[in-house]
Amino acid sequence: MAEKKVDQSSLKSKGFLPQRQENMFSMRLKVIGGRVDAQKLRAIADAAEKYGYGYVHITSRQQIEIPFVKLKDTAEASCELEKQGVLEGSSGKRVRAIVACHGNSICRYGLIDCQKMAGKIDEKYFGETVPKKLKIAITGCPSACVKPQDNDFGIMGTTRPEILEENCVSCGRCEKACKMGAITVQEEKARIDREKCVLCGACIAACKKDALRVERTGCTIFVGGSMGRKPRHGIKLIELADEEQLFSILEKTVGYYRKYGLDGERLGELLDRLGIESYRKEVLP
Ligand code: SF4
Ligand code: SF4
Ligand code: SF4
Repeated sequence: MAEKKVDQSSLKSKGFLPQRQENMFSMRLKVIGGRVDAQKLRAIADAAEKYGYGYVHITSRQQIEIPFVKLKDTAEASCELEKQGVLEGSSGKRVRAIVACHGNSICRYGLIDCQKMAGKIDEKYFGETVPKKLKIAITGCPSACVKPQDNDFGIMGTTRPEILEENCVSCGRCEKACKMGAITVQEEKARIDREKCVLCGACIAACKKDALRVERTGCTIFVGGSMGRKPRHGIKLIELADEEQLFSILEKTVGYYRKYGLDGERLGELLDRLGIESYRKEVLP
């Protein structure tokens, strides 16, 4: 009897990546913003022991993979994990899992709630089809721990400080706190060099005299970044966008990519081909 042909692409779309070993698959599981609760971790550990070789692999984009799942076990492993709320990851021509840092719910440098935003973006876009792939990363501040500039669509929390001169006692705490050399005390008052300022807000946190305050907090958006064989940094599209602007830009970006992107073309390549200005006109408010 002829051996049944394995539908690799269907398996891949369910998160099973073929290994170099015949009929073995690495099972990719969806993780949103790098966060997995303990109950799900237990279920994943059990599955790794039952269906794999008893270990997991953590990918560079915060995903969990269970290697060495046999072809015959793929359906059962999926079903068992799904019952525990652990869903398959994304691969192929789709919007990939959303990567995010702790953001302001935990990290003391965080300026935006990355985890909440990751949940919202995941709900709307995860697994949507696109010409090649769309990787989204959300980072809470300009320290950029999850490398938003290396993603097709990168989001970074930022805040713009403003000086209340009348409160400034020229103590220099802000100057010491600024790693960019963007704030200096001159003629007994703090001064910000806007060209050097990366909108991290460290000076605001350092000032004890209420002489620096938040003028606006929002998101800086980078587009067209990628790693891999053709690494490139994303282009800064907009600074300090509010959440409504962010979601509008993301929606229009996905639409633009689908409308104009050629099969197999990354967003950055599309921007090179059609020019950043045509894209800006379509997506910016
Ligand atoms: S990017 Fe900023 S907010 Fe996020 S973990 Fe790093 S330091 Fe914290
Ligand atoms: S930390 Fe505040 S009070 Fe001190 S120099 Fe800076 S702005 Fe002025
Ligand atoms: S926001 Fe950050 S980069 Fe800008 S002046 Fe303050 S500490 Fe320096």
